[in-house]
Amino acid sequence: MQPIDLFYPQLNTPARVVITMHQKPDGDAMGSALGLYHFLVAMGHDATVISPTNWADFLNWMPGIDKVVDFEKNKERSKTLIAETNIIFCLDFNILHRTKHMELPLTAATCTKVLIDHHQQPQEEAFTYGISDTGKSSTCEMVYDLIVGSGHMALLNTVIAECLYTGVMTDTGSFRFPATTASVHRMVAQLKETGMDHTKVHDNIYDNFLENRLRFIGYALVNRMEVLYEYNTALMYITRADLQKHDIKTGDTEGLVNYLLSIQGIKFGALVIDRDEERKWSFRSKGDFDVNTFARNHFEGGGHKNAAGGRSSDGLETTIKKFKEVIKEYQNQLQ
Ligand code: 5GP
Ligand code: MN
Repeated sequence: MQPIDLFYPQLNTPARVVITMHQKPDGDAMGSALGLYHFLVAMGHDATVISPTNWADFLNWMPGIDKVVDFEKNKERSKTLIAETNIIFCLDFNILHRTKHMELPLTAATCTKVLIDHHQQPQEEAFTYGISDTGKSSTCEMVYDLIVGSGHMALLNTVIAECLYTGVMTDTGSFRFPATTASVHRMVAQLKETGMDHTKVHDNIYDNFLENRLRFIGYALVNRMEVLYEYNTALMYITRADLQKHDIKTGDTEGLVNYLLSIQGIKFGALVIDRDEERKWSFRSKGDFDVNTFARNHFEGGGHKNAAGGRSSDGLETTIKKFKEVIKEYQNQLQ
């Protein structure tokens, strides 16, 4: 993988471009993809965003989302787009298997592939150009860096700003996580200068759920949370029946894991959800406890030091039992 600034000159030659991100895109994945999309269209490119899967309803207000292609619902069209494109941008992931069933067509494509991402341990050989920087708050910040670094800051507008603000806001926990540097705030100042309405973005993302989701959270906090004080850890599990009973959709469980860390003294929060195809883990930590390593070592996952995810093919009870076993190894680190 060559440094991304060597790719910048190619931005000036209109091309066919595909932009993609990790499956079940979150605010940062969708925000960076759409922010880059609007920028590339303004540069004269023929760009298409392809999402490997569906996404949460709370993203549906975003400018351009109506044109995003869902790979799982449009496999043939997506495969043709990928096979015929000149450039593929991969945003907010760094291992091709995080695009699920898109991994094969992406691997087979022989065009220029550009990585923009802030997770650890990138699959460098899979990309022609790229930047992988775990110090960055969000992929949206890195798309902003591309726009500014390639000399096109004049193209920033409210539409691009809304998209990029979405991801930097969600990935920094509304500007509270340690990766929220002075440069992040300087970038937000520039986004504000375009006339972007940040209150509208917050409302659309955080205050636009249905009643059932709030009642579900209440139910989960009362009935599905266990606090393991000897490990300064809180665990929550959601059964398939819980999801059905409360009519929980993609995105409704986003943010649930963060409640665990709001308990005084708790350094490690773990949430497991019994999805159809797998048990999906979300891990969050405060301070030095490295959940990326924990997820890699025990639950086929990864992510960042303080926010990671993983999976298991075991049943819900078995995977919870395994969690309670392996956590014992970390008692010293967690105290
Ligand atoms: P979440 O818990 O919000 O799904 O994910 C937290 C962080 O971990 C995100 O940065 C996400 O990209 C990453 N992540 C989640 N699941 C996985 C996984 O299965 N593998 C890897 N490598 N990263 C993951
Ligand atoms: Mn991200």
